[in-house]
Amino acid sequence: MTELASVPVTVLKGVGEAMAEKLARVGLETLQDLLFHLPLRYQDRTRIVPIGQLRPGQDAVVEGTVSGADVVMGRRRSLVVRLNDGSGALSLRFYHFSNAQKDALKRGTLLRCYGEVRPGASGLEIYHPEYRAVSGDEPPPVEQTLTPIYPLTEGLTQQRLRQLCQQSLALLGPSSLPDWLPDELARDYRLAPLADAIRYLHNPPADADLEELALGHHWAQHRLAFEELLTHQLSQQKLRESLRALRAPALPRPRTLPARYLGNLGFQPTGAQQRVAAEIAYDLAQPSPMLRLIQGDVGAGKTVVAALAALQALEAGYQVALMAPTEILAEQHFMTFQRWLEPLGIEVAWLAGKLKGKARATALERIAQGAPMVVGTHALFQGEVRFSRLALAIIDEQHRFGVQQRLALRQKGVEGRLSPHQLIMTATPIPRTLAMSAYADLDTSILDELPPGRTPVNTVLVADSRRVEVIERVRAACAEGRQAYWVCTLIEESEELTCQAAQSTFDDLGAALGELRVGLIHGRMKATEKAEVMAQFKAGELQLLVATTVIEVGVDVPNASLMIIENPERLGLAQLHQLRGRVGRGRAASHCVLMYHPPLSQIGRERLGIMRETNDGFVIAEKDLELRGPGEMLGTRQTGLLQFKVADLMRDADLLPSVRDAAQALLARWPGHVSPLMHRWLRHGQQYGQV
Ligand code: ADP
Ligand code: MG
Repeated sequence: MTELASVPVTVLKGVGEAMAEKLARVGLETLQDLLFHLPLRYQDRTRIVPIGQLRPGQDAVVEGTVSGADVVMGRRRSLVVRLNDGSGALSLRFYHFSNAQKDALKRGTLLRCYGEVRPGASGLEIYHPEYRAVSGDEPPPVEQTLTPIYPLTEGLTQQRLRQLCQQSLALLGPSSLPDWLPDELARDYRLAPLADAIRYLHNPPADADLEELALGHHWAQHRLAFEELLTHQLSQQKLRESLRALRAPALPRPRTLPARYLGNLGFQPTGAQQRVAAEIAYDLAQPSPMLRLIQGDVGAGKTVVAALAALQALEAGYQVALMAPTEILAEQHFMTFQRWLEPLGIEVAWLAGKLKGKARATALERIAQGAPMVVGTHALFQGEVRFSRLALAIIDEQHRFGVQQRLALRQKGVEGRLSPHQLIMTATPIPRTLAMSAYADLDTSILDELPPGRTPVNTVLVADSRRVEVIERVRAACAEGRQAYWVCTLIEESEELTCQAAQSTFDDLGAALGELRVGLIHGRMKATEKAEVMAQFKAGELQLLVATTVIEVGVDVPNASLMIIENPERLGLAQLHQLRGRVGRGRAASHCVLMYHPPLSQIGRERLGIMRETNDGFVIAEKDLELRGPGEMLGTRQTGLLQFKVADLMRDADLLPSVRDAAQALLARWPGHVSPLMHRWLRHGQQYGQV
């Protein structure tokens, strides 16, 4: 049988061109891709729960008889349907409903519904449940297996994706999906067969341990995470090996530029900045390419360190490229470097995707002729961009860039013969214990000291029932001339819903705070629109910015001193920390209000408690690791620290030592398995081997 890795999704029933295109957008091109597209979580629709046994926060199927349906006028008009099953009573609440719907929910109707149970005004409630009327004599059967919930993309429903995965599963067999873990290793590390794990995760039986699955500690998840981490480890070792063979321009220690730069700067570098700058200066003087990661908390001053590195290359007569993941950030860096370098007589060039026509041609020409300092977005990676003497590439917020993009850069070195040195900066701290595995191909430096005079952000936890007070707080802050962010977090797995929520929050806040100038920014807006809104906020023309987590990375508006984060329990701590880093950048005392939706789980409370207690990203990362978040935590996978499909470095940290041993064994005894594994797990996998 053909391997599923080479069977396109179009062989499946109901998948035409249009559907294939939608699937491709989320990386689903082959049947193997579908099988590795795993559910994010599961619903238990295998049993009907007696109302009397329901707990708040539970997702459950209930069945009961309607005892009444009334339209209630509260803060918002709603339809409340009372349901009884002999063990207790429950209310179903609808904010959107039609008259026909209301009329159909007559007294005496037997309903089966599914939804999340929450405490409400009238006892336990389910908001907008899925429901259907059932007849008493022949009730429909319940589900036999747990119901998987997959990550979605636009135009694709859960139903549809489930069908596609089921069709692919039917074709799963030992020759269609080869297991590249040798039996001996599987035995040593107690790993189940690949096909069993895949089957289990798409169709867990009714008695599966939902909690274990939510925590990511199920044997089936371990099996796949292990293989993925193993592959990652192997690819990094290859990368490192090939890197050792490359040459780079050796840049002598600079004599004049750094001193002149520091003289103009207006502050002293911190001890940590000096130490890290010295580590970099040493690397740059070597004839082999530096590949160094700076981990530094938000606001630690990574840009100064980057500038010092740049000056070493510039003084030696080479070019430097600085790249940021978004146009907003890149533009910010462009202005900073202009301010710093132009007084030293160094030209700074700019290139981004939105630069078009003549301006673009001019920029490309300047870069090809040797413009010394070039700042831009990933547009700098593109084939048409030619550098004449690129010796150093600086990449900010590296977790947003893939390895492939870093590799593309390497090919832009001097005469295609010498590789540029690479300096990579990230504000997402990961515990030291993990750094070795996460970045096995990089040397790391840690900026573990903040510049003096920062006032730590004061963080408070507030239940969302106190929303009105929180809004007043925003009003007061803005009345004092400060600015504020209001952040809406991810809803379900849908970017679309999240953007809609941000839009309606924007409408509500605009109405409640009529005197304020309120802006909105979210992922569905065009890059130019986003840049425009950011520019207005930066210029102080907007006082309150309603945003989704798109503002997370690197944005610097020192006058913003208040941040409200709605439903912070939906985010990983690393991401919360990133977000919070947008405030506390100026002189005024800053505040962050974490407005959660009660009830919080025990771990949820502990996790948010950590945010209240500390502003130190490394401490947060360590604690996050200790707590190993439950389902409500999205983990590092979603924050993009590293692009894993199944594994989560924090969650799966305890697998790492075995993974390292297994990688050695595989390389030594089964080298033929290495490249099929890379092919399976890494997109453009073959690139890893041939840098
Ligand atoms: P990040 O590490 O988050 O990228 P930045 O480089 O943007 O941080 O620096 C944050 C702010 O701190 C900037 O306004 C920068 O000028 C300032 N800064 C950096 N280093 C120092 C220092 N040693 N003393 C005082 N301010 C500093
Ligand atoms: Mg930065």
